[in-house]
Amino acid sequence: MSSLTTHCAHYLPLAPRALGPAALLCLAMALPLAAPAGADNHGELPEVTTTALTGTLHLLQGRGGNVVASVGEDGLLIIDDDYQNMVPAYEAALVDLAGADANPSFVLNTHWHSDHTGGNLFWADRGAVVVAHTRVRERMATRQDMPAMNRVVEPSPKGALPVVTFGDSLALHFNNDDLDVQHYAAGHTDGDSVVYFTAENLVHMGDLYFKDRFPFVDIASGGTVSGYIAAVQAVLERVDGSTVIVPGHGSVASKADLERYLDMLQLTSTYVSDKLEAGESVEAITEAGLGEVWASWGTGFIDEPTWISFIANSP
Ligand SMILES: [Zn+2]
Repeated sequence: MSSLTTHCAHYLPLAPRALGPAALLCLAMALPLAAPAGADNHGELPEVTTTALTGTLHLLQGRGGNVVASVGEDGLLIIDDDYQNMVPAYEAALVDLAGADANPSFVLNTHWHSDHTGGNLFWADRGAVVVAHTRVRERMATRQDMPAMNRVVEPSPKGALPVVTFGDSLALHFNNDDLDVQHYAAGHTDGDSVVYFTAENLVHMGDLYFKDRFPFVDIASGGTVSGYIAAVQAVLERVDGSTVIVPGHGSVASKADLERYLDMLQLTSTYVSDKLEAGESVEAITEAGLGEVWASWGTGFIDEPTWISFIANSP
């Protein structure tokens, strides 16, 4: 299965009638909605852009999830590694950043999705130790059923699997920082981790944060809307006005941005839940919509009907 169909497979846990127009387009065209226009396996891949964040930390953005690189006296560490076909672009970007023989000592995966773990095999082969929550290894090691399309995501090769796994949390000491890698259960998936760089006051939230967009909640991978909201609340309790917040997708954010995200999650999910409890159908709620105030949040990977379907179908 190509990474494109894997990406679209994000929608597969849903019944077809629960899918919004963007999701149906994705299924029909097998195009990754989160990718820039023209970026597919047959066309030209996007460049990787590098942005200095704070101290040793840099943001690398290509086609999939955001990558944070720590570059310093201990060497190189990266959080997530985008799609497999983006590896050459990251290799070039990391050489620019860290020198000719720059290979990460560690790769941390925030969760199992292929737009965050696609480079694992390559970097592990170059000597990186891949670290992730236990569920990430379990899901990558086994076929992930996608019943709505009679498809599966095949297991990753052994060399791509995390070799260090953890349960609730993990501490990692690198480049004069103390990384606190914290697992939040049943959010975007059942294996999401948030990485706190405690000295640099920077946090990488993985897909527990889609900046200014409705989130993807992978219910078939153990994600839930209530757990997602709880995770965002927990992160907000740990950050302050100076914290640099890196979302899984989108540009760098502040605490105020994340508070706005929490407001959207709470207000829209309560709105939909109340209507469902009052006996309204998902179809009627979708038809009426969430209101103009939330319209811009549905212009990305997850459109408004799909977000409503997540709220309606979440355990
Ligand atoms: Zn994801």
